[in-house]
Amino acid sequence: MDFHVTPLRSGSSGNLTLLEHAGTTLLVDAGLPSQRGLADALSEAGCGWDDVDAVLVSHLHSDHVNGSAVACCARHEVPIHLHRRNLDAFARKILSRSPASGPVRTFGDGEAFSVGGIAILPFRVPHDARGVTCGFTFTPVPGGRDVRVSMATDLGQNENGLFERFLDSDLILIEANYDEEMLHRSRRHDRGRVGSDTGHFSNAQAGKFLVRVLQESRKHPRAIILCHLSGDHNTPELARATVREILADHRFDGIPVHAARRDAPLRKFSL
Ligand SMILES: [Zn+2]
Ligand SMILES: [Zn+2]
Repeated sequence: MDFHVTPLRSGSSGNLTLLEHAGTTLLVDAGLPSQRGLADALSEAGCGWDDVDAVLVSHLHSDHVNGSAVACCARHEVPIHLHRRNLDAFARKILSRSPASGPVRTFGDGEAFSVGGIAILPFRVPHDARGVTCGFTFTPVPGGRDVRVSMATDLGQNENGLFERFLDSDLILIEANYDEEMLHRSRRHDRGRVGSDTGHFSNAQAGKFLVRVLQESRKHPRAIILCHLSGDHNTPELARATVREILADHRFDGIPVHAARRDAPLRKFSL
C-alpha cells in the first residue's frame, strides 16, 4: 500500500501538507487565512474536510494554525494534535477566539503516536515561535511497509543531532527559506530575524544539511522537497539550483529536488 505525500501550500502565507496511507488522511498544519482557502486547497488534492482524520500542528505561528483551521476542525470533528507545551498558548490565543472547538490531543518530545495507519514521531527544532516547534518523522504503523518521510519546515539552525532525524528517509521535506544574497540586499526590517539562529533555514543551509544527511544514510531519498520559500528573498529556481549545486559538489546528483509552492499544490509523491 502506497504512502502519499502532497504539499498543498508552503510559505509564510500558509502551510498545509497532506499525507495519505492505508485509508488514513493526515493534514500537517492548516495555516491558510480563510476557511474557504483551506477547503479549496484540500479540493485541489481531491479531498475535503470529511476525509481528514487529524490535523497535526508543528507550531503556533499563524501560517501553520489559526482560527480558520480551528473552525473547520470543530465543524467536521477533526482532532487537532499539538505539542503539550503549546497547549496553553493555543487555548489562550486561538481557541478562546473561536466560537467552537473540536477535540484537541497532545504529544511530547520524542513520544511516538499514530493516527490510523500513520505513525508519527515528533522532534523539536529551533525556531522563534512561542512554545515548541516540531519536525516529524512519518512511517506506516508497525507491520506495514518500510517507508520513512521526514519533515521540518521552519527551523533556524542546524542543531547538533538534528540530521539524525532525517537519516534513511524515502522523502525529505526541509525548509529552504531564503537566498543569502537576496536577503543581504533586502531592506525588509525583519531580515535580521529571518537569518538568525531561530528564524529560518537558507538555501545553502538546507543544501549543507542534506549533504550531512545523505553522507550518513544507508539509502537515498526518492525525492527532496524544499519548503517554506520566501516570496521576497527566494525563487523556486534559485532554491533548487543552490541545493542541487551543493549536492552535486558532494556527488549526490541524481536525487530529484523540488520546491513546494506558496499558492498551489506541488504534485502527489507516492512511496
Ligand atoms: Zn512558517
Ligand atoms: Zn514559524
